[in-house]
Amino acid sequence: MSDVNELRQRLISAATEITGVKGILSSPAETAGYLMDWRRRYKGEALAVVLPTSVEQVSELVKLCSRLGIAIVPQAGNTGMTGGAIPINDRPSMILNVSKMNRVREVDGLNNSVIVEAGCILATLREVVERAGKLFPMLLGSVGSCQVGGLVSTNAGGVNVLRYGNMRDLVLGLEVVLPDGKIWNGLKVLRKDNSGYDLKQLFIGSEGTLGIVTAAALKLFPQPTNSGTAMVSLPNIQAAVDLLRIFAESAGGKVEAFEIISKGQLENVLAHHGEPSPMPLSSPWYVMIELADSSTNWDPNEIFEQILAGAVERDLVHDAVIASDSKKAERLWKLRHTISEANMRKGFSVANDTSVPISKIALFIEQVDERLKQEFEAADVYYAGHVGDGNIHVIIVFDRSVYDTDEKREKAAARANFIVHEASVDLEGSISAEHGVGLMHIEELERFKSNVDLEMMARIKRAFDPGNIMNPGKVLATHRIDAL
Ligand code: FAD
Repeated sequence: MSDVNELRQRLISAATEITGVKGILSSPAETAGYLMDWRRRYKGEALAVVLPTSVEQVSELVKLCSRLGIAIVPQAGNTGMTGGAIPINDRPSMILNVSKMNRVREVDGLNNSVIVEAGCILATLREVVERAGKLFPMLLGSVGSCQVGGLVSTNAGGVNVLRYGNMRDLVLGLEVVLPDGKIWNGLKVLRKDNSGYDLKQLFIGSEGTLGIVTAAALKLFPQPTNSGTAMVSLPNIQAAVDLLRIFAESAGGKVEAFEIISKGQLENVLAHHGEPSPMPLSSPWYVMIELADSSTNWDPNEIFEQILAGAVERDLVHDAVIASDSKKAERLWKLRHTISEANMRKGFSVANDTSVPISKIALFIEQVDERLKQEFEAADVYYAGHVGDGNIHVIIVFDRSVYDTDEKREKAAARANFIVHEASVDLEGSISAEHGVGLMHIEELERFKSNVDLEMMARIKRAFDPGNIMNPGKVLATHRIDAL
């Protein structure tokens, strides 16, 4: 028996003692879906996929892997954008998938908080708290598949960050299994706690490299009593920034989402669904706007009509459609939430996730557009994103008949990423606003982050995980940790 097979047998037999046979997947047919990311860009190998049902089981599994020298790759819904939940192939790994730990443990209506396990799907969490009259505001296209553990570990964003913040703003406390197997119960539901370092912040956005999140205490909000959705067309991208400022000043804090879509992107989504456009496609830019609030006696349509009429007069807006009911609003939002799916169908899609100061969005897009169009002929360049956070996804969809080998595609992707990242960093932006670093952006992090940044990160990683067993090869280049 080869060394790897022997190790696999030892792992499976000891892990079965911990989770029972139902918690272990090891045949290629069972594990295939866990070993590849949803975009089919990264494929890894693992000795087994293990699905624990309790924090105690997670703790025992971590101790076991540490003893056997097996790397642990934490995984939740496997909808991540940067390959973070897929093992790298240079050392034996186990995927620890938290999907079976999916209970909503407690909704506290008076405290506006919920305690929920890491494997709970976002849509389920939203439904459960809605039944208690509450809102958990995080919303993104993968709502039906992504899970709390993944959302916390990537510090996910989505369309409502403008009003409620990203995951970091929504987490009150965490329960985490550390790389030595200790269980940290930091599940506090406090709004104020200055009793030392705010340890939970280290785990939020660290993509499984410091520990395994097993549960989270999250903030809740009142359910809105009313909401409204509009889609507007604009003459240029600066008009979107100006329009957002007007809405922010005039709509009394009711702006929940303000999402930009370029014309080419919208055309591609509509073609994907085979649906007619909700409005004429004669402008270069479109924005989806959501107003919502829990106060009484307000009418979203009145606000839309009043602000948009003024904006049309000032040439900030060409045209607008206001959804007359929730079904029509859902249809509009479907266009935004199915962008990734539509682009994957069209070609080899490289979606960047940069952020720049809002005041520099127009300059950023102008610079990037010119450089990308000069560089790539057989590619479409699209834009979508969250204007209120300066988080613009520059998406390059390469024609598969021209970029017809993995080598050509990866080379083009690396070059496109470099162009977009350089433009954003030159404007004091970030190469990753909400998707994280994962496997995809490690080299770019080396290029664009300072040595001091990277050394501090490596020291934190070393302090928590001296054996480097927790999602090795993600976020930080291994040589950074070895160099300490
Ligand atoms: P996974 O993909 O399983 O894991 C993501 C990372 O977290 C990996 O590094 C993994 O190792 C780590 N991890 C997972 N669980 C744990 C745990 N319990 N403990 C420690 N580490 C863990 N993201 C946005 O931010 N905004 C968007 O608007 C957005 N839109 C999307 C739209 C679509 C259609 C899709 C498919 C994805 C979108 N995403 C978006 C990306 C993705 O959904 C988020 O990154 C999400 O947070 C990942 O959750 P997951 O449960 O799938 O995590």
